[in-house]
Amino acid sequence: MAIERERLDADVLIVGAGPAGLACALRLAQLASADRKAGRAPVVPAENVYVLEKGRELGAHQLSGAIMDPRGLAELVPNFRNSAPLGPAVSSDAAYFLTATKARKFPLTPPPLRNHGNYVISLSRLTRWLGQQVEQAGINLFTQFAGASLIFENDGIAGVITEDKGLGKRGEPKPNFTPGYELRAKITVLAEGTRGSLTKTLVDRHRLDGINPQLYAVGIKELWEVPEGRIAPGWVAHTMGWPLDSHTYGGGWIYGFEENRVSVGLVVGLEYHNPLFDPQEAFQRFKTHPFVRRILEGGKLVRYGAKSLPEGGWYSMPRPYISGGLAIGDSAGMLNSQRLKGIHIAIKSGMLAAETIYDALASGDTSAAKLSTFQRRLEGSWIREEMWPVRNFHQAFRRGLWSDLVQTGIQMATGGRGLADPLRVGPGHLEYHKLANGQWKPLDRYHGDGALTFDVLTDLYHSGTRHDDDQPCHLHVLDPEICVTRCLEEYGNPCQYFCPAMVYEMVREDGRLRLKINAANCVHCKTCDIADPYQIIVWVPPEGGGGPNYEGM
Ligand code: SF4
Repeated sequence: MAIERERLDADVLIVGAGPAGLACALRLAQLASADRKAGRAPVVPAENVYVLEKGRELGAHQLSGAIMDPRGLAELVPNFRNSAPLGPAVSSDAAYFLTATKARKFPLTPPPLRNHGNYVISLSRLTRWLGQQVEQAGINLFTQFAGASLIFENDGIAGVITEDKGLGKRGEPKPNFTPGYELRAKITVLAEGTRGSLTKTLVDRHRLDGINPQLYAVGIKELWEVPEGRIAPGWVAHTMGWPLDSHTYGGGWIYGFEENRVSVGLVVGLEYHNPLFDPQEAFQRFKTHPFVRRILEGGKLVRYGAKSLPEGGWYSMPRPYISGGLAIGDSAGMLNSQRLKGIHIAIKSGMLAAETIYDALASGDTSAAKLSTFQRRLEGSWIREEMWPVRNFHQAFRRGLWSDLVQTGIQMATGGRGLADPLRVGPGHLEYHKLANGQWKPLDRYHGDGALTFDVLTDLYHSGTRHDDDQPCHLHVLDPEICVTRCLEEYGNPCQYFCPAMVYEMVREDGRLRLKINAANCVHCKTCDIADPYQIIVWVPPEGGGGPNYEGM
């Protein structure tokens, strides 16, 4: 059935209201205001810029550790310290190597983990504040709208179709059915975050991949309220080692907020070998380490969340421009995985995108050739200065922790070149070992003690996740037969373990095994889209407004 859609036209359409998308919007407004002050008509009036956000409100889907290097924000909003909702400045930082019972402090904090001058923040709050600046500047910001598909035109893109609202489980229109809008724009900016569904389609279709495939990690986080005096605001610790083995990339963090709140989490590279590995469970075990337990015990869980991160670095970034479109922030893989930081880079990439757009629209040329100046701007900025020396960092881990430490040392001494440059590795989902080699055995699901550690569903309750149950499933399994045949036998259905929200369950009904998808649990972390061994899970946006609510995270 052909659906008649209302068409809206904008100069610039930004998909995603995270730090990258909002920085792009605000910088566009600043450029327009500068034009006005100079007595010129703005090239892009603020009212001709649209920003879409799929969360029920601004910041609802924004999750990060989060320590922010203020460099990007200081360029965007020079007086940000007057009004931005910053948490405490980092007062002390340290790195520890954990064994199962001991925590050994590194004599010196490795330079990438030094955080003096940075802030412990709630990304959700910062995003909301940035959104207010954007709205005050006159830009149109629409929450509860996702970009469902791209409009491809003239060897590039020309906007998006937003999701249809009011469809039932089988795709049938309900009485409240509202067709998605056809939002057309001279330039569309993809700022969807990690593994954005539109960006993925665009990169595949136009073969925009970088030199290396993107490598990912998943971060699992809890926010705690702990008894007074357990942790000073601004106290920051990063850990390596336990509970991860030396072949699993990742590490933990503990950050002290004000009001006795603690951000605690674990990042795990999505290239581990054990297909039955469960990142949420590993994180729960991390909290039982005496070093972590002494901070959290007696406290209470406030919030839970999970998010994937693009960790591949400079060589894994897709080409970020095409005729009529740009990709920025996590969508374009702009993150420094050695520092575990991307917010400042996301903001800067948004600003550079805005300057590119302004220039392109002033000249009336939105071709790929014109927009390729975005790449040149990136290369001439401190984004490259920061990402280039760590361009082979994550890749070096493929042979395990000890080889990684040696290689990282060599990379640091050679300006990032290391033993091979570029260091080539394949995508993480090819790294699973098959069950047939007898190395891995299924474990019972982790239940936790209900005080310090929790099962997935208890954690999930604390994510504020909500979806309308009566809507088409937004997790498309392209060949469910594989789940009950090859995947079951070869890998034991890893989706049951890597999903931090227990969306996937193998259930037996009428004597037949089948994959049950609890789509309403989804926290939009995209891990399944990334880590499925057969790449048959496709995450698409559910009806806008659904998903987690990471308030305060
Ligand atoms: Fe993350 Fe996929 Fe699970 Fe949703 S279904 S929470 S995107 S792993």
